[in-house]
Amino acid sequence: MKNFHTHTRRCMHASGSDEDYVLAAIEAGYEVLGFSDHTPWKYDSNFVANMRMPLSQFEEYYQSILHLKEKYKDQIEIKIGLECEYFPRYMEWMKEFTKKNHLDYLIFGNHYYETDEYHLYNGSCTRDDEMLTKYVESTIAGLETGLYCYLAHPDLFMRSGRRWDEKCDQAAHTICSYCKENDVILEYNLAGLGSSLSRGVMEYPHDAFWEIASQYHNKVIIGVDAHSPRQLKDTTLYHFAQKKLKELDVEVVEDITFIEYPENND
Ligand SMILES: [Zn+2]
Ligand SMILES: [Zn+2]
Repeated sequence: MKNFHTHTRRCMHASGSDEDYVLAAIEAGYEVLGFSDHTPWKYDSNFVANMRMPLSQFEEYYQSILHLKEKYKDQIEIKIGLECEYFPRYMEWMKEFTKKNHLDYLIFGNHYYETDEYHLYNGSCTRDDEMLTKYVESTIAGLETGLYCYLAHPDLFMRSGRRWDEKCDQAAHTICSYCKENDVILEYNLAGLGSSLSRGVMEYPHDAFWEIASQYHNKVIIGVDAHSPRQLKDTTLYHFAQKKLKELDVEVVEDITFIEYPENND
């Protein structure tokens, strides 16, 4: 098993120490663990986000994971990444930031339209048709940058409490066909799955979305989206997802493409 979607408590809605996540992953038998906490952004305004690390904590995040990578190198392979939105006005900064820090990868979590300074969470506001359209457009625009290794929780819009309708169908077709044509991996998200199952509802992953992904034979990766070490230690959902995906006509993948940097460049 491999997992590239792991948060840390720096994002303010996750628990446990970084080392606890590593130990849980080793215990559960993961071969690779990638950390991808919610990225900081360098805002133009004095906005302070409450669901991501502030920029001032990034260095400590990086050093902490680097230390664990070395400490546990004989037991597990650790990668350092971020879960990152597509905020057009800040993408040049993000590109430089990624390069400067030699991040292994970015996953695309389209949580907010344009920037969270001015827009609401896509997991709630997409109940509105216009916001759902914007979610789809910004998802495609973000993927066009080629910066991300995969698209996290593509069906996040179903967290808004929408019933699956024609508009959702269109959204899924647009996203899945784009990803098929451009060889983009979609993520089957276990945090959403756990949340849905525990409340007896179907938000995301939503079966209707994944049936459409099946029609396009998309590439799919499982992402734990761990917000606590327990979610790594308990592999029930991971196996549930493996079984579920096997029933669909999708191509399950375990590996992502890491960002490459020219050697000896500094
Ligand atoms: Zn996310
Ligand atoms: Zn996440």
